Order: sequence, then structure tokens, then C-alpha cells
Amino acid sequence: MVYNFSAGPAVLPKEVLLQTQQELLDWHGSGMSVMEMSHRGPEFTQIIQEAEADLRELMAIPANYKVLFLQGGATTQFSAIPMNLIGRTGKADYVHTGHWSKGAINEAKRYGDIHLAASGEDRHFTYIPDPATWQVRPDAAYLHYTPNETIGGVEYQFVPEVGDIPLVADMSSNILSRSVDVSKFGLIYAGAQKNIGPSGLVIVIVREDLLGHALPSTPKLMDYKLVADNDSMLNTPATFAVYVAGLIFKWLKVKGGVAGIEQLNIAKANKVYEAIDQSGGFYRNPVALDCRSRMNIPFVLQDDALNAPFLKAAAERHLLQLKGHKSVGGMRASIYNAMPMAGVDALIDFMREFAARHA
Ligand SMILES: *Cc1c(COP(=O)(O)O)cnc(C)c1O
Repeated sequence: MVYNFSAGPAVLPKEVLLQTQQELLDWHGSGMSVMEMSHRGPEFTQIIQEAEADLRELMAIPANYKVLFLQGGATTQFSAIPMNLIGRTGKADYVHTGHWSKGAINEAKRYGDIHLAASGEDRHFTYIPDPATWQVRPDAAYLHYTPNETIGGVEYQFVPEVGDIPLVADMSSNILSRSVDVSKFGLIYAGAQKNIGPSGLVIVIVREDLLGHALPSTPKLMDYKLVADNDSMLNTPATFAVYVAGLIFKWLKVKGGVAGIEQLNIAKANKVYEAIDQSGGFYRNPVALDCRSRMNIPFVLQDDALNAPFLKAAAERHLLQLKGHKSVGGMRASIYNAMPMAGVDALIDFMREFAARHA
């Protein structure tokens, strides 16, 4: 029994892993594993349709949005988004808040005129520039932002208001962790391996009126309109990943849906930040108070020489994958939906003990 604080691929609910194990050889009396089924057969059709219906219910996705199950992770969408959406005006605006927004920006530059509406670089990406200062071009085909910067631990506590410009959000690391009004977005996308399921799968939720403007060079498999018209079955979808995602959605419904898990996520994050803030400077989180992430909590120790002993002692307590990203240093605790409160309690007990021993 361990607690896994990995940023991704991340912890999955034990109940879902057990169910996957139980159904591995024989899904619902079919005599087949989901891995062995035709993606066009009645069994898998039921699996993917239920997954979509459950996701629609969880996020209250309006009827004029398509849900696409794609492959290649969120990173492939860094290209697919401009290819599909920039065509209307040739221009797109991006808000630069750290590592993942940078990835999206660099890729988008291949496809058109990209402008930074705002950047948090002046303070090492530890804050979100005030939306009142954003310079959004009125003819931008869309505005892209990153609601949760997984590495920096910077999360928007609001949805930016950008008028009629379609808002595009990379929700890879906070989808389904908090309530959002989908109707405020033109497109939402999320790689699966943080809050949804196995890596490789990526989910795109896109407003229908944005479809049909793909650049002529867009590969068939990346053209949202073609994918939508073919119910995400242009080629063989990531069937097993879709199946596990579907089980996660059902698990989340049992947990009280997004509203229920959000309350738990708030309580979990508050506990970790409290342990950091009450450590008398032994631990420090560099992020501005109003945009601290509920999902990914980076913290540095007073003395870098304590990093290795911290990680070693944590591992002895079965607290794993706490090492921070190399660009930030120190530690990072990722506490996605599937991290139970008991894991957070074990972490903060350990942090307090370690600080008492080494302060
Ligand atoms: C993990 C992550 C990605 C990259 O996802 P891949 O599936 O590895 O391509 C992109 N954006 C954010 C915000 C992430 O957290």
C-alpha cells in the first residue's frame, strides 16, 4: 500500500483498478477482454457511448458541443487546435503562464500569427496576469489558456471573460476536479493521465459551430469535423483507455460528481498548504496566494541539502513520486481526484515530523 503523488500518469481509484482486474478476461459475460473486442461491435459501442453520456452528465456539457475521444495526449492537441481553429482569421492569442502554455504556443506558431495576450514570465510564472491587462486582439480566432499549470502549480480560480472570442482551455490537469460552465468555452481538451485514466487518450469538447474550418493540410485523424462525424471512430480508438475512463466517470458519479469531489479537493489542498505555511519557513510554496493549484502543490525545502533525505524518508513511509520538476526544484505533491484524504493526511504528518527533526 503506497500513496502515489505523481504528476502523471497519476494515481487511479483503487476501486476502478480492481474492477478492471475483475473484468479483464471476461467483460460482462462476453467471454472477451475489452482489449480484444471490435471497436465497432455492440459491446464496445455501449462502452464508449456510456463513457460519453457519463462525461456529459458530470460536466453538464450542452447539446451543441461534441465530445471527441482522440489519441496522442494533450501535446498532439497543441497542433490540432490551431490546425482546426486558426483558419477563420489566421490569428490566435495565447496566455503564457508556464511550461505547458509554452508548449502550446511553440507548436501553434507553425500554423499562423500567434500573439501573447499576457505572460507571467516576469515573475517566473508564479502568478496569473490580471485579465484586465490582457491584450486580446479582436480578430483572434481563439484565445488559448492553461487553467492549471501542472509544473508551476498555478491555477485559475476563475474563467476569463473574453467576449465573443472562443476560449480554448488545456484542462489536462484539472478537468473534473472543479465545476466549470462549459458554455463559456469554445473548446476544452485534456490528456487523460491525470484525472481521467490511462495516458495516450485525450478528450476534446468542442462547440459545433467551430467545426469545419480546418486548414487544408490538417491530417484526417486530427480534423475535428471528420472525427465528430465518425463518432471518434475514423480509425481504431484507444479502446481500453476509453473503457477505463468510463469506469472513472462512473466512480466519480458515486463520489457525488464534480461538485462532490471539488469539496474534497478543496479540503485536501487546504491541508497541504496549511502544513507548508505553518512550517515557519521550513517549506515554502512560491505561488501567489490567489492562484495556488488544488491539484499540484510544489514546495521547496529551506535547505536543498535536505531534498534527498526528504525523498528517502518519504519513500520509507510509502509516500512516492514527490520529487519536483527539474525546472522548479524541491518537491511537488500532485493530489488529483483519486488521491484519498488518507494520503494527504499521511503526507502532512510526515512533513511535520520531518521538519521537526531537521529544523
Ligand atoms: C500533462 C500535461 C500535458 C501533456 O500531456 P501529454 O498527454 O503528455 O501530451 C499538457 N498540458 C498540461 C496542462 C498537462 O498537465
